[in-house]
Amino acid sequence: MKTKFKNLTEFTQLFNQEVKCRKYFEAIRFKKGDYCPHCGHSKILRFSDGKRYRCVKCKKDFTIKTGTIFGESKLPLQKWFIAIYLLTTSKKGISSIELSEQCGVSQKTAWFMDHRIREAMKQNDGKLFGTVEVDETYLGGKHNRKQGFKNKIPVMGMTERKGKIKAFQIESRETHIIFNEIKKNIDPSAFIMTDEASVYKKLPRFGYRRGGVKHSQKQWVKGEIHTNSIESFWALFKRGYHGTYHSMSRKHLQRYIDEFVFRFNARTTEMDEKFMEIVQEISKRGNLSYNGLTGKVAPKINYEKRQTIKKTQANKSALQTSSWRNRALKV
Ligand SMILES: [Zn+2]
Repeated sequence: MKTKFKNLTEFTQLFNQEVKCRKYFEAIRFKKGDYCPHCGHSKILRFSDGKRYRCVKCKKDFTIKTGTIFGESKLPLQKWFIAIYLLTTSKKGISSIELSEQCGVSQKTAWFMDHRIREAMKQNDGKLFGTVEVDETYLGGKHNRKQGFKNKIPVMGMTERKGKIKAFQIESRETHIIFNEIKKNIDPSAFIMTDEASVYKKLPRFGYRRGGVKHSQKQWVKGEIHTNSIESFWALFKRGYHGTYHSMSRKHLQRYIDEFVFRFNARTTEMDEKFMEIVQEISKRGNLSYNGLTGKVAPKINYEKRQTIKKTQANKSALQTSSWRNRALKV
């Protein structure tokens, strides 16, 4: 089946029927062969309605959405696809009110869809290389003179020049927390650019090369040294924050950050590729219920996710990692 599209017209032509959406998703989900989402068995039977499957081994029935972020929701894939298209292409994001109007669903459903799609936009574990700018900012909460930044949430960002970006909500700006993030996300060969915050001056002690600018003295650029790329990402994020979302709770802030990071990193990627990337992620990630999203119960984990967790746990125990926290605290 055709999977390419360049604009909204081509997109709507491609996915104008539910059956076409199902075929597209099936091709992605069973790319490496059929499998049962309940037990992982590779022999499944297809019902003649084209909507259901049955596992030959465990005899359980399922649909193409079972065990994925689309879950057991009654929503047609067509609506999901429109939501994914909008969230991956709108520069400043799309609020649940807007999404509910565009997809013809309730605002609660739209909020739920929005967050589930963001789940598929989660940042990966890869490291950054080359010249990497590092900076922090404060997001969310209300800023007032009395309490200062007390209610705001510190967020740390790092970006390769003209390359990938990563950003995370952090607990606080303590040295060991900042250094942990640097160690986890930046290759030791990188040249790190920062402002004059004292925590970064300790970077060379940990083997990193560092260049700094003094923002307090109105020094923004010193030759190649500046933090303009990460600052422009903060500006973009804050425009989305104020213009589209208005407020982001502490509980869900990281999902919004992931959304902006995804779009930023995919800024030069073709529309149909970005779309496919998200749908691929959705096929791999387990179902996420409303209670799971709001933190009331742990999300269900599907067969593929269980395999990945097993692998990571095995890798972790094999690696004797030194305690970065203790090292940083000694400084
Ligand atoms: Zn099975």
